[in-house]
Amino acid sequence: MTGKTGDISDVVIVGGGFAGVVAARDLSRAGYDAVLLESRDRLGGRTWTKPSPLGRELEMGGGFVHWLQPHLFAEMVAYDIGFEPVAPIDTVYYITDDVVKSRPVEEYKAYVGKAQIALAAGALEAFPAPHTLFPLTPAAQKADQVRLLDHIEAMDLEPEQKQMLKAHWTLSFNGPVEDGSLSQVLRLVATAGGTFQMRQASASSMMMAGGTKKLLDAIAGDSTATVHLSTHVTAIRHDAHGAKVETSDGRVFRTRRVIVTLPVNALNSITYSPALSARKTAAATRGQVSKGVKIWMRAKGKVRPFIAFAPEKYPLTMAGYEYDIDGDTILLGFSPRSGDIDIADPKAVEAAVRQWLPDVEILAVDSHDWTADPLSAETWSMYRTGQLPDIEEFNRPEGVLRLAGSDFALGWVGHIDGALETGRRTARQIMTELAALETA
Ligand SMILES: Cc1cc2nc3c(=O)[nH]c(=O)nc-3n(C[C@H](O)[C@H](O)[C@H](O)COP(=O)(O)OP(=O)(O)OC[C@H]3O[C@@H](n4cnc5c(N)ncnc54)[C@H](O)[C@@H]3O)c2cc1C
Repeated sequence: MTGKTGDISDVVIVGGGFAGVVAARDLSRAGYDAVLLESRDRLGGRTWTKPSPLGRELEMGGGFVHWLQPHLFAEMVAYDIGFEPVAPIDTVYYITDDVVKSRPVEEYKAYVGKAQIALAAGALEAFPAPHTLFPLTPAAQKADQVRLLDHIEAMDLEPEQKQMLKAHWTLSFNGPVEDGSLSQVLRLVATAGGTFQMRQASASSMMMAGGTKKLLDAIAGDSTATVHLSTHVTAIRHDAHGAKVETSDGRVFRTRRVIVTLPVNALNSITYSPALSARKTAAATRGQVSKGVKIWMRAKGKVRPFIAFAPEKYPLTMAGYEYDIDGDTILLGFSPRSGDIDIADPKAVEAAVRQWLPDVEILAVDSHDWTADPLSAETWSMYRTGQLPDIEEFNRPEGVLRLAGSDFALGWVGHIDGALETGRRTARQIMTELAALETA
């Protein structure tokens, strides 16, 4: 791979997650000189299919996918990548009023499902065309002002159902959900077709056969963009004609257009000159909700297929069965606050899982703390009250600079699909601009 620091490229793409990689592919395949700068020593960003010391490849970041996700599904079809259903479970453990309870999965689904269906009502009224998003409907604007927790409290449900709804959505927000918005919930349901059942299916029923790395490698392999790994961007100086993208090792990449694909919580880590709009800067400073951690565990022996939920104050809000492995079991868990649990210490994680399964023995753990990682500073984006209009602002170009990335998706916000959507859309917008310049 060649550096082009002396030349002016057509586009510099900052960040090599799915948004950056797909934008680089589309632009380079269309004949544009695209340069991708990635701070890590690998592509994939918040997806990372990693050979794990637990004994098999595991998804450290995003992993669940679904055919309801149009940009993702189109790429999977194009590269002949299939789905892998997750293993069925039979028992649900949950904690309400600090007491651990359990129900067979179908009974639990019926009990909590009723409440979830009631919560999801109105999703398609608020977001009748969820992949378009703007202009916002009056119902979406109203829901954006409503705190999810207040809405659940006001619903006509049994107290236990309310507690369970809060626990479920703490898991989905992957962070302290106190100012998470109702609009975020309705948006996710609407993008999944409007029903809670399909939202649930899209969130956790399928993985990609071969892992997300298979799709990443396929897209990257189709690209002819110049890729610089371990290249950390510190500043972007731009004017009407182009930009200079500066890196921590003193290099300067000159370019006609820039795409920045950083997550919203990390967006302000680059110096922009001129600065991003005051609204973009303020919205990124406020940040979004997720600040949790995903933890893989190897449990001793065969653990019965289960899923477990707990309220936000517990160190793990979810744990569940994922795979059998050589007589042991691989479990997955989520904490709403990175730092609350020592992800390197099997005994600390074991203590947290024992809130549901008192006899479980955790032999080993594996995780990546995306929240503590300054290159992400979050897991997946889940917006607060009043932030929905900010997404339109994030999609507004700043001269020759545009933002892309799953956090700014019009459709599947916070998902791999949203990263692909924004990468493809932004690449196309830049192609149109550059083509217009050439004919001017
Ligand atoms: C634990 C976890 C679980 C998830 N689960 C799911 C799931 O099940 N299904 C799903 O669809 N989605 C899931 N997601 C979300 C999904 O992984 C992301 O939304 C998606 O991968 C984001 O892609 P992106 O390209 O927009 O951003 P990123 O992948 O974050 O890419 C941004 C890139 O920019 C780089 N970068 C940052 N700063 C700089 C800099 N200054 N200079 C150069 N490079 C820089 C980063 O290293 C990164 O590679 C999950 C995410 C996490 C963390």
